[in-house]
Amino acid sequence: MAYSYDDQNIFAKILRGEIPNNTVAETEHSLAFSDIAPQAPHHVLVIPKGAYVSYDHFAQTATDAEILDFTRLIGKICTDLGVSLEGDGDGFRMVSNAGQDGVQDVPHLHVHILAGRPLGPMLERRLS
Ligand code: AMP
Repeated sequence: MAYSYDDQNIFAKILRGEIPNNTVAETEHSLAFSDIAPQAPHHVLVIPKGAYVSYDHFAQTATDAEILDFTRLIGKICTDLGVSLEGDGDGFRMVSNAGQDGVQDVPHLHVHILAGRPLGPMLERRLS
């Protein structure tokens, strides 16, 4: 079955310029902007400009150029935020939720970059 993309999602509207965003960086194939409800001192969302619903969709069907652009932009943002381990940054967490079990609210691929405080355990510990 094919991936299905809803072009009325809020990030598609941001990409079309229909609603504003606080842009952090933009490249040919990707956009990074501040999360509207930050969960850490740094909370940046990175999205591809293409119509991809989730990371698996992107990883399996995007062009090499799109994947390279997206991945490099994530690296650049970590450097720009000063959280990269390349310098003396304190690190970050990268999360991409997908679908119902992943609790994805916006059905356009986005990676959350969270940083600026100790982020605690990744998940609550529950086996079922
Ligand atoms: P997720 O649950 O992984 O789909 O995360 C969606 C994220 O999008 C949440 O962290 C929201 O705070 C964020 N969000 C929703 N609308 C906007 C918006 N207009 N601009 C920036 N971030 C948004």
